[in-house]
Amino acid sequence: MLSRRGWLWWPLAGAASIGSARAAQGRSSKSLRERLRDAVDRMEVVNTHEHIIPEAERTSQPVDFFTLAGHYAINDVISAGLPAETATRAGISPVERFQAFEPYWKHARFTGYGQALRIAIRDIYGFDEISAATLPKIDEAIAAKNKPGLYRQVLKERARIRYSVLDDYWNPAPKPADPEFFVLARKFDRYVMPGSRKGIEELEKLTGVSITSLAGLKQAMEKSFEQSLEAGMTTVKSTIAYNRELRFAEAEEGAAAKAFEDLAQGNAPLPEGFRAAVERPFRTLEDHMFHHLVRLAEAHGVPVQIHTGILAGNGNFVTNTNPTGLTNLFFLYPKVKFDLFHISYPYQGELAAMAKLFPNVHIDFCWAHIISPAVSRRALHEFLETVPVNKIFGYGGDYRYPELSYAHLVMARRNIVQVMSEKVEDGFCSEDEAVAIARMLLDENPARMFPRRRA
Ligand SMILES: [Zn+2]
Repeated sequence: MLSRRGWLWWPLAGAASIGSARAAQGRSSKSLRERLRDAVDRMEVVNTHEHIIPEAERTSQPVDFFTLAGHYAINDVISAGLPAETATRAGISPVERFQAFEPYWKHARFTGYGQALRIAIRDIYGFDEISAATLPKIDEAIAAKNKPGLYRQVLKERARIRYSVLDDYWNPAPKPADPEFFVLARKFDRYVMPGSRKGIEELEKLTGVSITSLAGLKQAMEKSFEQSLEAGMTTVKSTIAYNRELRFAEAEEGAAAKAFEDLAQGNAPLPEGFRAAVERPFRTLEDHMFHHLVRLAEAHGVPVQIHTGILAGNGNFVTNTNPTGLTNLFFLYPKVKFDLFHISYPYQGELAAMAKLFPNVHIDFCWAHIISPAVSRRALHEFLETVPVNKIFGYGGDYRYPELSYAHLVMARRNIVQVMSEKVEDGFCSEDEAVAIARMLLDENPARMFPRRRA
């Protein structure tokens, strides 16, 4: 075991044959960290989670610095004190917008979201500094690159992403995604929680199924599921933790049917605003329908991605997102592969315990390296010693804009290199094993879970 330790490479090389001594010397001319960085930077990646809009749509719209800052980074700038209404005010010039933004950006630029924005502006557009003086040039550079070919350049050539799992939440009806870049994740949350009579009518329009009972609602979900498979769906996705707690009781058919009647007749409207995330008058129906969705995934052999942990935007109930609420599903559906998102931050300890206990629970670092780079490194250290390595997915960009997905991947590779070099120094694994683990995290594990179903 000792000979595996990086610092012993050099003395061992002296005792080896000339050929292998040369190889070892070549290996030793760089530090362990540098060698791992070279290996990990070269790796191709399967990206478990994106919201990247179609390239034709992206390049037909004006895009500037604030477009890119508008995804995630702006939420930390608001958290630093920028009034939310100022952040979104229409009809002001970029200069005025920057004057309002800058006093709070200077505090938010160190967070993971801030780092990702700075890396994108530096690497893709060539500006080390974001200031009132550089802003017009940054905007010019962004506009100049905003044309067809951008996605190939950024996602393939620069980021070396083989393909990404795309959550196209903006498409209520299933549509195939561009197979050069994406495989498809589809959401059925609107069938789990239609919310109102109007919500039911929308589902009728989407599926052509008449919904006058619980059975009709299930048929509509089944129809949408079939259509999604036809469009190339690789995985189910749920973001229901934005709306309610992740605890799905085994609700009886009769109780769910009664809740459907109440909803269809408008007997108990959802409360307004944030209270709706706690008071759920149709909870029994939602619970029942979520089980129906997981059974459909089981019947078709499709994995289920579930949002757990911290929520996008500003303000929500983090306690709703604790992944331990899902435990009964892991018992009830052992054949369904569950992919739990965002390392369940700040519940990454709970997630490790569940991925250890249940063969069907997987850990996903999507969004995590930008939520907290330091927690991601700490968590990866812990997961590698707690959970079998075939169940960990190392990266998912979780952005609308490919420049930021690239920047997130820079941070993910950097984190993996740092953790794996510390693991080699600690004698946890050899250098070759560290490279193999990085490849499993970034490519092999997600490729096995989310295979390309179409050429
Ligand atoms: Zn997402």
